[in-house]
Amino acid sequence: MTQETGGFAALDLHPNIVAAVLATGYEEPSAIQQQSIPIILAGHDMIGQAQTGTGKTAAFALPILNKIDVSKREPQALILAPTRELALQVATAFETYAKQMPGVNVVAVYGGAPMGPQLRAIRNGAQIVVATPGRLCDHLRRDEKVLSTVQYLVLDEADEMLKLGFMDDLEVIFDAIPATRQTVLFSATLPSSIRSIAERHLREPKHVKIQSKTQTVTAIDQAHLMVHADQKIPAVLRLLEVEEFDALIAFVRTKQATLDLAAALEAKGYKAAALNGDIAQNQRERVIDSLKDGRLDIVVATDVAARGLDVPRITHVFNVDMPYDPESYVHRIGRTGRAGREGRALLLVTPRERRMLQVIERVTGQKVAEARLPGPQAVLDARIKKLTASLAPLVAEAEATHGQLFDRLTADLGCSARALSAALLRKATNGQSLDLASVEREQPLVPTFAARERSSERSDRGERSERGDRERRAPMPLAEGRVRCRTALGARDGIAAKNLLGAILNEGGLARDAIGRIQVRDSFSLVELPEDGLERLLTKLKDTRVAGKQLKLRRYRED
Ligand code: ADP
Ligand code: MG
Repeated sequence: MTQETGGFAALDLHPNIVAAVLATGYEEPSAIQQQSIPIILAGHDMIGQAQTGTGKTAAFALPILNKIDVSKREPQALILAPTRELALQVATAFETYAKQMPGVNVVAVYGGAPMGPQLRAIRNGAQIVVATPGRLCDHLRRDEKVLSTVQYLVLDEADEMLKLGFMDDLEVIFDAIPATRQTVLFSATLPSSIRSIAERHLREPKHVKIQSKTQTVTAIDQAHLMVHADQKIPAVLRLLEVEEFDALIAFVRTKQATLDLAAALEAKGYKAAALNGDIAQNQRERVIDSLKDGRLDIVVATDVAARGLDVPRITHVFNVDMPYDPESYVHRIGRTGRAGREGRALLLVTPRERRMLQVIERVTGQKVAEARLPGPQAVLDARIKKLTASLAPLVAEAEATHGQLFDRLTADLGCSARALSAALLRKATNGQSLDLASVEREQPLVPTFAARERSSERSDRGERSERGDRERRAPMPLAEGRVRCRTALGARDGIAAKNLLGAILNEGGLARDAIGRIQVRDSFSLVELPEDGLERLLTKLKDTRVAGKQLKLRRYRED
């Protein structure tokens, strides 16, 4: 990204564009901007390959603004983007860069909003149209001439558009634009499907490839934690206790997982929401806005729902489910550490996924350090630190406003200042555990599989607790046709083997000899059950309670 001289001013862009860009706080063009802008200005077709966060938008927006004829009030540039969010982001960026170019009109065209106003905005003289392919095709069906004046075509995040199934729509759009156009294609990856589009629809394209992986990654502090699949949510909750984050995005693979994790986080008092393809477009947009302005701190998203989103507040990326390939790992963690900020990325790895971790390390050329699950002491310290931080500003002021009340209360209650303060603290902290013994009692042990190989979840004092040792004992081999199921109820919930046996016999309708060994640990229990008909049995036991608590029996996979 560095260069000796010139910066934006040396790029042959109109001074008003340069001024607007500098006014937004950009100092120097990024590598992709540096290389693409001259090529696009010169009128060449181009294929640009660069990771998320490298500044691709300005790489095409600036030269296009430079080229359009503001006096002509007709569509001249068409930008295609995979999702409504990205289309809006690109349209907003155009408006920012065009701040000092009066007469430039940008319209965003996407599904989920009425078509009429969009079409009117196009006809009313928008020179720049930013669209999702699906909705644009709907417009073309109504008015096949709507793109007949377009001279510049940009496919932004082309790989993502293909993943979303826009191939056919793209073909329709190519056909609706004059063949004399200039075409620019940006993509993070260049699979053969993209190369074949380029061969058919671009003319002698220049290639620009930015090897940004190591750059993207070095600003980000990365770590991984080995954990069993059924322990991910408790692991995330524990990690969050000690991570100091501003905003966080957690990636999972399925829609259901976005909902499950978001619900678990909300239950713990985090301002969290799910973001997935099933959520209505305008609701998705609200979620993103809320994350931007702090009404939300955590968004749990699938890759497609989060792709390309740019929220500078994001300090942390949690890869709760493993990405499908190393490139999408790089994309995901590129959501943090934006614009030179520091970021932190955490990756949960289940036993089966160990190899993928190695692939990621190889491709990014970096070791992803192993994180430890914080122990009770670390959790306690973090809680006290937060409490201290929340009190610090009050200590400076509250005496003036509440000092008299304090005197009156100590007098009325006939207690010491320390006794009253302690009472107020208990009230203010709302039952949160703030001493080591209670934190220890409250934190479920999260058995990690690194745990069984090495010493695993250690307490912060560096030694294994008695309890921990007992919990980590390797499970016994299973009999044929049996599987192990796990419940988070254990001895500390007042559970004994006979309670579990009774509940499963009564509510599950099993014969006594269908149930194998039952192992009750302090914070969980394992029960051996017949594999045959297991799903049905677990459904039957869905609402079963033992010792007043939900049994929530789940299949336990040891891998
Ligand atoms: P990409 O499309 O490659 O993922 P964007 O165009 O969305 O990247 O840009 C990522 C972020 O970097 C945005 O917040 C953008 O405002 C910022 N940015 C882009 N170019 C520059 C630059 N030259 N200097 C500083 N910040 C920039
Ligand atoms: Mg982009």
